[in-house]
Amino acid sequence: MSCLTCKHYEPHALYPYVGYCKEEKSVVLDREGCERRSNLDYASLKGGVVEAGWVYCITCREPIYSLEDLDRHFSGGHAVVSGFMDDQVSLEESHAAD
Ligand SMILES: [Zn+2]
Repeated sequence: MSCLTCKHYEPHALYPYVGYCKEEKSVVLDREGCERRSNLDYASLKGGVVEAGWVYCITCREPIYSLEDLDRHFSGGHAVVSGFMDDQVSLEESHAAD
């Protein structure tokens, strides 16, 4: 199981296979997860649809606006996220890596 379906992972809006790990507090590339990996939480994704009006399926690269669609993507094992990483973080990280 990869980072994409981990609830600690926030993908980059344009490059979803690069993201920010809230556990490691650093930018990570999609990989085979780690010992802190924790499965996506359906309840929080459902909350995203209800409260924000959308979540996003990385697997299909499309936004999800309804609970019916969320069920379809989630039950298919897709990587669904309720938000993206703060772009400022990636800029700071890449700068620091110079
Ligand atoms: Zn999907």
